[in-house]
Amino acid sequence: MAEILPGVHTIDGIDPSPDFSTHVYLLKDKGSTWTLIDTGLPGAHEKVEAYLTKIHVEPTAVKKILITHLHNDHVGSLKRMAKATAARTFAHWIEAAYIAGVPKYDGPGSPPTDGFRVDEVLKDGDTVDAAGGLVAYHTPGHTPGHTSYYQPERKLLFSGDLFFVDGERLVLTTPEYTHHTPTAQISARRMSQLSVDALLTYHGGPLLKNGGPTVRSLVEKF
Ligand SMILES: [Zn+2]
Repeated sequence: MAEILPGVHTIDGIDPSPDFSTHVYLLKDKGSTWTLIDTGLPGAHEKVEAYLTKIHVEPTAVKKILITHLHNDHVGSLKRMAKATAARTFAHWIEAAYIAGVPKYDGPGSPPTDGFRVDEVLKDGDTVDAAGGLVAYHTPGHTPGHTSYYQPERKLLFSGDLFFVDGERLVLTTPEYTHHTPTAQISARRMSQLSVDALLTYHGGPLLKNGGPTVRSLVEKF
């Protein structure tokens, strides 16, 4: 459990397997409120709530929950976290439909086990008033409505499962779990145009420095 950058926390202990690191991010807003990015597998809400207790934050101080995509290791605890915090929930409009289970997602990776209707649907370029302002970028490929969240002032990119950090190496998430890899490559190329210091991946990593140059050297190989 750690504050990995000022106001950016990761919550340990919610990994799908011991050698598969998973990062639910808890972000401090500009005032006294907080934002969560993704929620972990079913049951992970207990770890998130324990972490909030540890840092003396009331669950109701978490005002927003932003989802990167529909996979169950990201939304598995969404319903429980939304209930515990009473936060507003956000996802891209395509993912919002799949998270609700209408229609049921039949692509690679685990679909949500439980239908959930998010409060607010996002489109590409929307800004969410959270953590000093997060821009929602539609970065499809891993899933059809996959979204990355960018904090321009601090040059932070929360990239969900677009990228994966395998040891020290940045790669795209494996085709086995990806809806359409060529589209993910297009999204990666688009994200390579951003100025990024910390690349905050969901699995593996994160890369706290040189995120932008690392993404650019990856996309040059496509
Ligand atoms: Zn995924």
